[in-house]
Amino acid sequence: RSKTEGPGRSTMFDTSMHEQARDRVELEGALRTALTRGELHVAYQPIVAIADGRPVGAEALVRWDHPRRGPIPPGVFIPIAEEAGLIDALGTWVRQESLRQLAQWRAEHTVSDDFWMSINVSPRQLRDGGLPAAVGAELTGLGLPAGVVTLEITESVMVDASTQTDQVLFELRALGVRLAVDDFGTGFSALGYLRRFPVTGVKIDRSFVSGLGTDHSDSEIVRAVVAMSTALGLSTVAEGVETVEQRDALASLGVPLGQGWLWGKAVTAAQFATRWGAIPGVPDAAAARRPLTA
Ligand code: C2E
Ligand code: MG
Ligand code: MG
Ligand code: MG
Repeated sequence: RSKTEGPGRSTMFDTSMHEQARDRVELEGALRTALTRGELHVAYQPIVAIADGRPVGAEALVRWDHPRRGPIPPGVFIPIAEEAGLIDALGTWVRQESLRQLAQWRAEHTVSDDFWMSINVSPRQLRDGGLPAAVGAELTGLGLPAGVVTLEITESVMVDASTQTDQVLFELRALGVRLAVDDFGTGFSALGYLRRFPVTGVKIDRSFVSGLGTDHSDSEIVRAVVAMSTALGLSTVAEGVETVEQRDALASLGVPLGQGWLWGKAVTAAQFATRWGAIPGVPDAAAARRPLTA
Protein backbone atom coordinates (compact mmCIF):
# COMPACT_ATOMS: atom_id res chain seq x y z
CA ARG A 1 0.00 0.00 0.00
CA SER A 2 2.99 2.30 0.39
CA LYS A 3 4.06 3.09 -3.17
CA THR A 4 0.64 3.79 -4.65
CA GLU A 5 -0.26 6.43 -2.09
CA GLY A 6 2.15 9.08 -3.33
CA PRO A 7 5.71 9.96 -2.42
CA GLY A 8 4.82 11.83 0.79
CA ARG A 9 2.96 8.92 2.26
CA SER A 10 5.49 6.33 1.24
CA THR A 11 8.28 8.35 2.88
CA MET A 12 6.29 8.58 6.09
CA PHE A 13 5.56 4.90 5.97
CA ASP A 14 9.20 4.00 5.34
CA THR A 15 10.33 6.31 8.12
CA SER A 16 7.99 4.78 10.64
CA MET A 17 8.98 1.26 9.55
CA HIS A 18 12.58 2.27 9.94
CA GLU A 19 11.93 3.73 13.39
CA GLN A 20 10.10 0.60 14.46
CA ALA A 21 12.95 -1.60 13.30
CA ARG A 22 15.51 0.57 15.10
CA ASP A 23 13.38 0.62 18.22
CA ARG A 24 13.20 -3.13 18.17
CA VAL A 25 16.95 -3.56 17.76
CA GLU A 26 17.46 -1.14 20.63
CA LEU A 27 15.01 -3.02 22.87
CA GLU A 28 16.61 -6.34 21.99
CA GLY A 29 20.03 -4.99 23.01
CA ALA A 30 18.64 -3.62 26.27
CA LEU A 31 16.84 -6.88 27.00
CA ARG A 32 20.10 -8.82 26.69
CA THR A 33 21.48 -6.95 29.68
CA ALA A 34 18.22 -6.40 31.57
CA LEU A 35 18.47 -9.69 33.42
CA THR A 36 21.98 -9.20 34.75
CA ARG A 37 21.27 -5.54 35.60
CA GLY A 38 18.29 -6.50 37.75
CA GLU A 39 15.76 -4.63 35.63
CA LEU A 40 13.32 -7.56 35.59
CA HIS A 41 11.04 -8.61 38.39
CA VAL A 42 8.13 -10.97 38.78
CA ALA A 43 4.66 -9.65 39.62
CA TYR A 44 2.02 -11.95 41.11
CA GLN A 45 -1.70 -11.89 40.34
CA PRO A 46 -4.10 -13.88 42.53
CA ILE A 47 -6.21 -16.72 41.14
CA VAL A 48 -9.28 -16.98 43.36
CA ALA A 49 -12.24 -19.21 44.13
CA ILE A 50 -15.11 -17.32 42.47
CA ALA A 51 -17.54 -18.30 45.24
CA ASP A 52 -15.72 -16.47 48.04
CA GLY A 53 -12.71 -14.63 46.56
CA ARG A 54 -10.26 -16.82 48.49
CA PRO A 55 -6.81 -16.93 46.82
CA VAL A 56 -5.97 -20.45 45.64
CA GLY A 57 -2.91 -19.59 43.57
CA ALA A 58 -1.00 -16.88 41.77
CA GLU A 59 0.21 -16.32 38.24
CA ALA A 60 3.80 -15.15 37.89
CA LEU A 61 4.00 -12.34 35.30
CA VAL A 62 7.36 -10.91 34.30
CA ARG A 63 7.91 -7.15 34.45
CA TRP A 64 10.65 -5.06 32.87
CA ASP A 65 11.46 -1.58 34.11
CA HIS A 66 13.61 -0.03 31.41
CA PRO A 67 15.94 2.49 33.09
CA ARG A 68 15.07 5.28 30.65
CA ARG A 69 11.75 4.26 29.10
CA GLY A 70 10.02 2.93 32.20
CA PRO A 71 7.85 -0.21 32.23
CA ILE A 72 7.77 -2.13 28.93
CA PRO A 73 4.75 -4.49 28.66
CA PRO A 74 5.49 -8.23 28.33
CA GLY A 75 3.28 -8.21 25.25
CA VAL A 76 6.06 -6.15 23.66
CA PHE A 77 9.23 -7.74 24.99
CA ILE A 78 8.29 -11.44 25.22
CA PRO A 79 7.98 -11.72 21.40
CA ILE A 80 11.36 -9.96 21.09
CA ALA A 81 12.89 -12.38 23.61
CA GLU A 82 11.43 -15.29 21.64
CA GLU A 83 12.84 -14.12 18.32
CA ALA A 84 16.21 -13.07 19.76
CA GLY A 85 16.80 -16.44 21.43
CA LEU A 86 16.55 -14.92 24.92
CA ILE A 87 13.34 -16.65 26.03
CA ASP A 88 15.08 -19.69 27.53
CA ALA A 89 17.22 -17.56 29.83
CA LEU A 90 14.33 -15.25 30.66
CA GLY A 91 11.88 -18.10 31.20
CA THR A 92 14.31 -19.96 33.41
CA TRP A 93 14.87 -16.86 35.51
CA VAL A 94 11.11 -16.23 35.96
CA ARG A 95 10.51 -19.88 36.87
CA GLN A 96 13.34 -20.07 39.39
CA GLU A 97 12.41 -16.74 40.96
CA SER A 98 8.70 -17.57 41.27
CA LEU A 99 9.38 -21.09 42.64
CA ARG A 100 11.80 -19.62 45.19
CA GLN A 101 9.09 -17.11 46.15
CA LEU A 102 6.49 -19.86 46.52
CA ALA A 103 8.83 -21.90 48.75
CA GLN A 104 9.45 -18.81 50.90
CA TRP A 105 5.72 -18.03 51.22
CA ARG A 106 5.04 -21.64 52.20
CA ALA A 107 7.83 -21.59 54.80
CA GLU A 108 6.46 -18.33 56.26
CA HIS A 109 2.86 -19.63 56.16
CA THR A 110 1.92 -16.67 53.96
CA VAL A 111 0.08 -19.15 51.73
CA SER A 112 -1.62 -22.47 52.44
CA ASP A 113 -0.03 -25.80 51.52
CA ASP A 114 -2.26 -26.26 48.48
CA PHE A 115 -1.70 -22.75 47.11
CA TRP A 116 -0.16 -23.01 43.65
CA MET A 117 2.08 -20.99 41.36
CA SER A 118 1.22 -20.69 37.66
CA ILE A 119 4.17 -20.00 35.39
CA ASN A 120 4.01 -19.13 31.69
CA VAL A 121 6.12 -21.28 29.41
CA SER A 122 6.93 -20.29 25.85
CA PRO A 123 6.58 -22.86 23.04
CA ARG A 124 10.29 -22.60 22.41
CA GLN A 125 11.13 -23.58 26.01
CA LEU A 126 9.22 -26.83 25.50
CA ARG A 127 11.60 -27.79 22.71
CA ASP A 128 14.37 -28.09 25.29
CA GLY A 129 14.57 -31.77 26.19
CA GLY A 130 16.36 -30.81 29.40
CA LEU A 131 13.40 -28.82 30.77
CA PRO A 132 11.71 -31.62 32.80
CA ALA A 133 14.96 -32.56 34.54
CA ALA A 134 15.68 -28.88 35.28
CA VAL A 135 12.21 -28.36 36.77
CA GLY A 136 12.51 -31.61 38.76
CA ALA A 137 15.84 -30.51 40.23
CA GLU A 138 14.45 -27.09 41.14
CA LEU A 139 11.46 -28.63 42.94
CA THR A 140 13.68 -31.03 44.86
CA GLY A 141 16.12 -28.26 45.73
CA LEU A 142 13.34 -26.08 47.15
CA GLY A 143 11.42 -28.94 48.77
CA LEU A 144 8.31 -28.15 46.74
CA PRO A 145 5.72 -30.82 45.85
CA ALA A 146 5.20 -30.85 42.07
CA GLY A 147 1.43 -30.49 42.49
CA VAL A 148 1.72 -26.83 43.57
CA VAL A 149 3.20 -25.87 40.22
CA THR A 150 1.14 -25.20 37.09
CA LEU A 151 2.85 -24.50 33.81
CA GLU A 152 0.76 -22.45 31.39
CA ILE A 153 1.17 -23.42 27.75
CA THR A 154 -0.52 -22.01 24.65
CA GLU A 155 -2.80 -23.89 22.31
CA SER A 156 -0.22 -23.46 19.54
CA VAL A 157 2.08 -25.80 21.48
CA MET A 158 -0.40 -28.64 21.03
CA VAL A 159 -1.24 -27.79 17.43
CA ASP A 160 2.39 -27.61 16.30
CA ALA A 161 3.71 -30.25 18.68
CA SER A 162 6.80 -32.09 17.56
CA THR A 163 7.85 -35.42 19.00
CA GLN A 164 10.30 -33.53 21.19
CA THR A 165 7.65 -31.17 22.60
CA ASP A 166 5.33 -34.11 23.14
CA GLN A 167 7.98 -35.90 25.13
CA VAL A 168 8.73 -32.81 27.24
CA LEU A 169 5.03 -32.31 28.08
CA PHE A 170 4.60 -35.94 29.12
CA GLU A 171 7.77 -35.87 31.22
CA LEU A 172 6.69 -32.66 32.95
CA ARG A 173 3.30 -34.19 33.72
CA ALA A 174 5.00 -37.36 34.95
CA LEU A 175 6.82 -35.22 37.51
CA GLY A 176 3.40 -34.25 38.87
CA VAL A 177 3.47 -30.70 37.56
CA ARG A 178 0.09 -29.48 36.28
CA LEU A 179 -0.31 -28.16 32.73
CA ALA A 180 -2.93 -25.53 31.85
CA VAL A 181 -3.85 -24.29 28.39
CA ASP A 182 -3.61 -20.47 28.46
CA ASP A 183 -5.87 -18.11 26.48
CA PHE A 184 -8.12 -21.08 25.75
CA GLY A 185 -10.43 -20.59 22.78
CA THR A 186 -8.26 -18.11 20.87
CA GLY A 187 -6.24 -20.68 18.91
CA PHE A 188 -7.13 -23.83 17.10
CA SER A 189 -8.08 -25.84 20.12
CA ALA A 190 -9.93 -29.02 19.47
CA LEU A 191 -11.24 -31.53 21.92
CA GLY A 192 -8.83 -34.06 20.50
CA TYR A 193 -5.82 -32.06 21.64
CA LEU A 194 -7.09 -31.90 25.19
CA ARG A 195 -7.45 -35.66 25.22
CA ARG A 196 -4.18 -36.41 23.52
CA PHE A 197 -1.99 -34.11 25.63
CA PRO A 198 -1.53 -34.51 29.38
CA VAL A 199 -3.15 -31.17 30.23
CA THR A 200 -4.93 -30.72 33.56
CA GLY A 201 -6.73 -27.44 33.04
CA VAL A 202 -7.81 -24.60 30.77
CA LYS A 203 -7.83 -20.84 31.24
CA ILE A 204 -10.77 -19.29 29.41
CA ASP A 205 -9.47 -16.30 27.49
CA ARG A 206 -10.45 -12.81 28.58
CA SER A 207 -12.12 -12.16 25.21
CA PHE A 208 -14.92 -14.61 26.12
CA VAL A 209 -15.26 -13.25 29.66
CA SER A 210 -15.62 -9.59 28.66
CA GLY A 211 -18.98 -10.09 26.93
CA LEU A 212 -20.58 -12.06 29.76
CA GLY A 213 -23.88 -10.53 30.78
CA THR A 214 -24.20 -8.60 27.49
CA ASP A 215 -23.19 -10.97 24.69
CA HIS A 216 -25.26 -14.14 24.58
CA SER A 217 -22.77 -16.08 22.42
CA ASP A 218 -19.99 -15.52 25.00
CA SER A 219 -22.15 -17.15 27.69
CA GLU A 220 -22.78 -20.09 25.39
CA ILE A 221 -19.07 -20.46 24.63
CA VAL A 222 -18.20 -20.43 28.34
CA ARG A 223 -21.00 -22.91 29.02
CA ALA A 224 -19.58 -25.24 26.35
CA VAL A 225 -16.03 -24.93 27.70
CA VAL A 226 -17.20 -25.76 31.24
CA ALA A 227 -19.14 -28.79 30.00
CA MET A 228 -16.11 -30.01 28.09
CA SER A 229 -13.68 -29.37 30.97
CA THR A 230 -15.95 -31.18 33.40
CA ALA A 231 -16.33 -34.13 31.06
CA LEU A 232 -12.55 -34.39 30.69
CA GLY A 233 -11.83 -33.80 34.38
CA LEU A 234 -9.99 -30.53 33.75
CA SER A 235 -9.85 -27.49 36.02
CA THR A 236 -11.22 -24.21 34.66
CA VAL A 237 -10.02 -20.68 35.38
CA ALA A 238 -11.67 -17.59 33.83
CA GLU A 239 -9.20 -14.87 32.87
CA GLY A 240 -9.66 -11.11 32.84
CA VAL A 241 -12.64 -10.85 35.19
CA GLU A 242 -13.20 -7.12 35.69
CA THR A 243 -16.79 -6.68 36.84
CA VAL A 244 -19.19 -8.09 39.43
CA GLU A 245 -21.59 -8.90 36.57
CA GLN A 246 -18.96 -11.07 34.87
CA ARG A 247 -18.13 -12.78 38.16
CA ASP A 248 -21.79 -13.55 38.85
CA ALA A 249 -22.31 -14.84 35.31
CA LEU A 250 -19.27 -17.12 35.69
CA ALA A 251 -20.57 -18.39 39.03
CA SER A 252 -23.93 -19.24 37.51
CA LEU A 253 -22.20 -20.98 34.58
CA GLY A 254 -20.33 -23.12 37.09
CA VAL A 255 -16.79 -21.75 36.57
CA PRO A 256 -15.02 -22.38 39.89
CA LEU A 257 -11.93 -20.18 39.58
CA GLY A 258 -11.16 -16.70 38.31
CA GLN A 259 -8.42 -14.17 37.81
CA GLY A 260 -8.75 -10.50 37.01
CA TRP A 261 -8.72 -6.89 38.07
CA LEU A 262 -11.99 -7.33 39.99
CA TRP A 263 -9.98 -9.17 42.63
CA GLY A 264 -6.57 -7.73 41.99
CA LYS A 265 -3.89 -6.81 39.48
CA ALA A 266 -0.44 -8.34 39.42
CA VAL A 267 1.63 -6.81 42.23
CA THR A 268 5.10 -7.19 43.72
CA ALA A 269 5.78 -10.16 45.99
CA ALA A 270 5.76 -7.92 49.08
CA GLN A 271 2.41 -6.36 48.12
CA PHE A 272 0.98 -9.79 47.36
CA ALA A 273 1.92 -11.10 50.80
CA THR A 274 0.32 -8.08 52.50
CA ARG A 275 -2.84 -8.11 50.45
CA TRP A 276 -3.37 -11.85 49.99
CA GLY A 277 -1.27 -13.59 52.58
CA ALA A 278 -2.65 -15.16 55.73
CA ILE A 279 -1.59 -14.00 59.16
CA PRO A 280 -0.31 -17.13 60.95
CA GLY A 281 -2.69 -18.30 63.64
CA VAL A 282 -5.59 -16.14 62.47
CA PRO A 283 -8.05 -18.30 60.53
CA ASP A 284 -8.74 -16.80 57.12
CA ALA A 285 -7.27 -13.44 58.03
CA ALA A 286 -6.82 -12.59 54.37
CA ALA A 287 -10.54 -12.99 53.72
CA ALA A 288 -11.34 -10.74 56.67
CA ARG A 289 -9.19 -7.96 55.21
CA ARG A 290 -10.75 -8.07 51.77
CA PRO A 291 -13.48 -5.60 50.83
CA LEU A 292 -16.93 -7.18 50.74
CA THR A 293 -17.50 -6.10 47.15
CA ALA A 294 -14.69 -8.28 45.85
P1 C2E B 1 -1.33 -14.24 30.01
O1 C2E B 1 -0.44 -15.35 30.44
O2 C2E B 1 -2.64 -14.59 29.41
O3 C2E B 1 -1.53 -13.36 31.34
C1 C2E B 1 -2.68 -12.65 31.64
C2 C2E B 1 -2.57 -11.21 31.22
O4 C2E B 1 -3.81 -10.56 31.43
C3 C2E B 1 -1.54 -10.41 32.04
O5 C2E B 1 -1.00 -9.40 31.19
C4 C2E B 1 -2.42 -9.78 33.10
O6 C2E B 1 -1.83 -8.63 33.71
C5 C2E B 1 -3.63 -9.42 32.28
N1 C2E B 1 -4.85 -9.31 33.09
C6 C2E B 1 -5.16 -9.96 34.23
N2 C2E B 1 -6.37 -9.63 34.68
C7 C2E B 1 -6.87 -8.74 33.79
C8 C2E B 1 -8.12 -8.03 33.70
O7 C2E B 1 -9.02 -8.15 34.53
N3 C2E B 1 -8.28 -7.20 32.62
C9 C2E B 1 -7.31 -7.05 31.68
N4 C2E B 1 -7.55 -6.19 30.69
N5 C2E B 1 -6.12 -7.70 31.74
C10 C2E B 1 -5.92 -8.53 32.77
P2 C2E B 1 0.56 -9.08 31.17
O8 C2E B 1 1.14 -9.21 32.54
O9 C2E B 1 0.72 -7.80 30.42
O10 C2E B 1 1.14 -10.27 30.30
C11 C2E B 1 0.79 -10.42 28.95
C12 C2E B 1 1.24 -11.74 28.42
O11 C2E B 1 2.67 -11.82 28.39
C13 C2E B 1 0.80 -12.95 29.25
O12 C2E B 1 -0.54 -13.27 28.98
C14 C2E B 1 1.79 -13.99 28.78
O13 C2E B 1 1.38 -14.53 27.57
C15 C2E B 1 3.04 -13.15 28.57
N6 C2E B 1 3.93 -13.29 29.73
C16 C2E B 1 3.95 -12.61 30.90
N7 C2E B 1 4.94 -13.08 31.70
C17 C2E B 1 5.55 -14.09 31.03
C18 C2E B 1 6.65 -14.98 31.32
O14 C2E B 1 7.27 -14.97 32.40
N8 C2E B 1 6.98 -15.89 30.35
C19 C2E B 1 6.31 -15.95 29.16
N9 C2E B 1 6.70 -16.85 28.27
N10 C2E B 1 5.28 -15.15 28.86
C20 C2E B 1 4.90 -14.23 29.78
MG1 MG C 1 -0.68 -17.02 31.49
MG1 MG D 1 -3.70 -16.14 30.10
MG1 MG E 1 -5.03 -14.19 28.10
